[in-house]
Amino acid sequence: MDWRDRPPYVEEVAPGVFAYVQPDGSWMINNLGFLVGESGRSLLVDASSTETRTRRFLAEVDTRSTAAPMALVNTHHHPDHVYGNYLAPSTTPVIAHTACREEMLTAGLEATRVITEPDYGDLRIRTPDITFDDRLTLHLDEVVVELIHVGPAHTTNDVVVWLPEQRVLFTGDVAFAGGQPFLLEGSVPGFARALERLRALSPEVVVPGHGPVCRGDDVPVLLDDLSAYVAYVDQVAAVAEAEGMTALQAAEKHRDNPYAGWAETERFVGNLHRALTERAQGPGVRLRVPDAWPDMVAFHGGPIGCHA
Ligand SMILES: [Zn+2]
Repeated sequence: MDWRDRPPYVEEVAPGVFAYVQPDGSWMINNLGFLVGESGRSLLVDASSTETRTRRFLAEVDTRSTAAPMALVNTHHHPDHVYGNYLAPSTTPVIAHTACREEMLTAGLEATRVITEPDYGDLRIRTPDITFDDRLTLHLDEVVVELIHVGPAHTTNDVVVWLPEQRVLFTGDVAFAGGQPFLLEGSVPGFARALERLRALSPEVVVPGHGPVCRGDDVPVLLDDLSAYVAYVDQVAAVAEAEGMTALQAAEKHRDNPYAGWAETERFVGNLHRALTERAQGPGVRLRVPDAWPDMVAFHGGPIGCHA
């Protein structure tokens, strides 16, 4: 069966460390993860976008753990990673970067009005209970879990979950496998720097935010491909800036590009929005998905669908 047609599945990537992979990895269909310690407690990495998807994930965790999760970590504020937070037990704290909480409070359920296809269920926003700015270390029984802020990259608040002993890295959306990365709300040079930091960790296993798990020799290949993509976006933006082109015009001109075979090609336009803004105005300018969405829809040639 083609990977994209598979139902969600659990992959044990190290003893007691699980990736929960949701094909096809497109808009709103994210990967999650969980760890189970010797005591039977778990630690959750991200929620999902809808009530059904998150409940299905929590049911999988329940079959492998015997106590309530010690915490739920959000890798960033995007809806596919946080909308299901409220389904975790109320005694389980949600942990994220400080800016993740702020962005969630600002955005609310706005994404349900941008990507309307999924049946989101009865969603309620549950913001993080514990926030940090740089690093935080968790201890699930004997397992050391390092939360490291590597943004701005995909967003301002990207956190990776690094298990130094197991050499497993949950990247959130700093790595996509098979789809174009999305930099609109983050930073082009910041994304390049974040990839350097991921490389420096030298992971054996990468669980990307979307797409299949990556292992061994495929890890540096994935990170190099992502770096090359980011460099390409910057290169197109440099020419577009010199020629006075908009993001959409530049994307149209370079529609036939080396990454056209990666899924969600419309992200190219959003990424050029960020690159051009950053070139003109420097880092940190607020750009949000709804701002660039009409151009992305135009480039896509119609409504950007996702699976219900
Ligand atoms: Zn994201």
